[in-house]
This record gives sequence, structure tokens and C-alpha cells, in this order.
Amino acid sequence: MATFDIRRWRPEDFSAGAASRRQCTWGGDGVTPCPGPPAYTVIDRAGRKWAACSRHVLSHIDDRLRDDE
Ligand SMILES: [Zn+2]
Repeated sequence: MATFDIRRWRPEDFSAGAASRRQCTWGGDGVTPCPGPPAYTVIDRAGRKWAACSRHVLSHIDDRLRDDE
């Protein structure tokens, strides 16, 4: 089991100028950003916030569930 810190994305969740105010930052590879519009704000294991599109929120869930393995 894992608990999740996920809520509906809002630009105010991120500091001015942060990429997460405009785009999904959980996906992509650092060179090519994910083209998906941000739909959720998620928090990683280190407590940092990211924007996730409806597709990449699933990879966030998968990441958190790695503790189960
Ligand atoms: Zn994405």
C-alpha cells in the first residue's frame, strides 16, 4: 500500500517561472518536455511538487508503489 499526495493541478502550486506552471514535468526526459497539459499536482518522495498530465499521473503512482516490491 502507498499513500499519495495528489490534487488537481493549479498554477499557483508552483513558483513564478517554474515549468510546472505551464506543462507536465513528471513526464518527459529533461530535454523533450511532455506535451500533455498538466492535470494534477503530485509530490515525490523528496517532497518536491511536480505537474503531471492525466497519462503521467499513472507513472507517478507506479513510482510510489515501488516501495511495495
Ligand atoms: Zn505528461
